[in-house]
Amino acid sequence: MIQVLDLNFQGQKQTIACFLFETADGPVLFETGPYSANDNLRKAIKKAGFQFEDIKHVFVSHVHFDHAGGAWAFAEHGAKIYTHPAGAKHLKSPEKLYKSAKRIYGKEMETLWGKMEAIPSRQVVSVKHGDKIKIGKSKFRALHTPGHANHHVAWEYKKLLFAGDVAGVKIGKSIVVPPCPPPDIDVEAWSKSIKMLLDKRYEKIYLTHFGEVNDTKAHLVELRGRVKNWANWIKPYFEKGVSQKKTIPEFEQYVNKQIKMGGATEATIKKYELANPAFMSVAGLFRYWKLKKEAIEKSKRDIALEIND
Ligand SMILES: [Zn+2]
Repeated sequence: MIQVLDLNFQGQKQTIACFLFETADGPVLFETGPYSANDNLRKAIKKAGFQFEDIKHVFVSHVHFDHAGGAWAFAEHGAKIYTHPAGAKHLKSPEKLYKSAKRIYGKEMETLWGKMEAIPSRQVVSVKHGDKIKIGKSKFRALHTPGHANHHVAWEYKKLLFAGDVAGVKIGKSIVVPPCPPPDIDVEAWSKSIKMLLDKRYEKIYLTHFGEVNDTKAHLVELRGRVKNWANWIKPYFEKGVSQKKTIPEFEQYVNKQIKMGGATEATIKKYELANPAFMSVAGLFRYWKLKKEAIEKSKRDIALEIND
């Protein structure tokens, strides 16, 4: 009923997945990967027994390129794309999203992610927390799950969860790590989202990076610890004013050691780096601490104002 489609992203297996779910009303898809992997996705859908055009409903977790970059190609064939209200505007007009990614990736942009075209408004469906979407006889429930991105939605089907990035990255037999790109990383919100998922006692969680998790409790508990561990590792670098450029290689070494100790081979470490680059997490966690510091300073100023009133 559920097939894991490997996008073979940048020629690497087990880095980005999509999930094909057969309903009584045809197949639906969770995640699309980036448009750069669209040919591979088409092949994978065919191998799964369907045509690209058969997919009329696409559920994305959030609008980062590795999750929803290829959604517009399905929309061209009339598919509806389901997303968080704050993600919807970027699918309808992706220029801003594309520009900010281009600032990070520069010339690599096209080869890494491919293009992203606008999706007509009528085909973008915004979902509230708890909304149920019924396709055939199957009901999928949207869970707003901030932490990795403010506009993140995990999709629930009975005791299964299509988690996007809120349940982290785990490739092969190693550890689970949190992808921490800017601009939305929020450790407290992420912990809250994980708590909600833990309470639901899922039988299986499907990770976009990568695949099926069966021991969902141990997985989520480990992730919750590692989100804090990574944030706290970055904190002194931020506080001492160390540059991100200097921090990146040290952080990368720290993370790779963790992944290696978890049982990963060198080849698997490379996959982790492709799915969740260290420089991204350094940037995201620096920003998290910066915003936190600004918020604390602002509340101190507000209190001072109140006292002086
Ligand atoms: Zn991702």
